[in-house]
Amino acid sequence: MTAPVSVRGVSRFYGEAAALADVSLEIAAGEFIVLLGPSGCGKTTLLSILGGFVSPSAGQVFIGGRDMGGLPPAKRPTTTMFQDYALFPHMSLIDNVGFGLRMRGQPRRARDARALECLDMVGLSASAKRRPHELSGGQRQRVALARALAVDPDVLLLDEPLGALDLGLRRQMQEELKAIQKRVGTTFIHVTHDQEEAMAIADRIVVMNAGKVEDFATPAEIYLRPRSLFSAGFMGECNFLPARVEGPAGQGALALTGPSGPLTLPDAAFLGPAPAPGAEVTLCIRPEHLGPGPGGIPLGEGRIERLAFLGAHTRAVVAGAAGPLIAALPQTSPAREGDSIALWAAPEALVALPAAGD
Ligand code: ADP
Ligand code: MG
Repeated sequence: MTAPVSVRGVSRFYGEAAALADVSLEIAAGEFIVLLGPSGCGKTTLLSILGGFVSPSAGQVFIGGRDMGGLPPAKRPTTTMFQDYALFPHMSLIDNVGFGLRMRGQPRRARDARALECLDMVGLSASAKRRPHELSGGQRQRVALARALAVDPDVLLLDEPLGALDLGLRRQMQEELKAIQKRVGTTFIHVTHDQEEAMAIADRIVVMNAGKVEDFATPAEIYLRPRSLFSAGFMGECNFLPARVEGPAGQGALALTGPSGPLTLPDAAFLGPAPAPGAEVTLCIRPEHLGPGPGGIPLGEGRIERLAFLGAHTRAVVAGAAGPLIAALPQTSPAREGDSIALWAAPEALVALPAAGD
């Protein structure tokens, strides 16, 4: 089954410190949501409040339109899958997966049938009689997922479930998680601090920092149109350049002074209303939107300090009037360390945000 989740003004204090500060989210039924942010930003606290393991100091949680206030974990339409997924070592896989159903008083025949169905979903029905120690890490992870889904929750809560797996296996499990979620239609809320993992699996990402929501949108929106400097910097590499708004520059454009002189930006570069003359802003430019041009917005000339061939592109650190800039040059770029290079930014991919401190 599946259900929408509504988080309304939720805060959680530990003494004076706010682990969560006034968080509100509207999640649709069947969405794959990822909570993304650095260690200590409040991801586990939020997940624990949804699951009923921690009570909020303020605010409310609704699941399927029902107020969850005061409901213990077992009475909620949620299941939580922790990183340490603790399968019972003395039980077969089918008994592990059927455990929650046994606790709910389901007779053996019915719970075995359901457990087999769930093991089949994760590709392990042929191993139903085996014990957890006979499995690889990835297989144990799949059993934990089958066990979590066996009780048919409306919402599955996953706290860094892939954190213990090596990179290759993690990528594979991301694909599988996403495919299984699509198939069952359950609302998934998945915690990670890995930005690539978030982009690979999420319908929408909640970017969190210091107990607050910085951004909540699709991976593409957050990457291309971040709503905060933190969000821009956490979702991959980004160049931040200070600039000052001078005034209108004809239709649908603003004139600014940047670190390497005057420049003109389309109004669309500003999220929300265009700032007033005199406002300090920060330009956010992804490395792949900077290039040797010519064309676009000129950012001045600089010297290539370092080059690193990264496969898909070559990463260049360029020292110039605008400070060090990171540019993603094409694989085939003839550039060498020590070369001078003029950098240009693609105007349609440039975002201007209020400067830090505003
Ligand atoms: P994350 O999962 O994003 O790493 P947490 O939700 O675990 O972050 O923690 C958020 C903040 O709340 C941290 O500063 C953490 O130290 C604090 N915190 C979490 N749980 C407790 C607790 N039981 N007692 C005191 N402080 C806590
Ligand atoms: Mg955590």
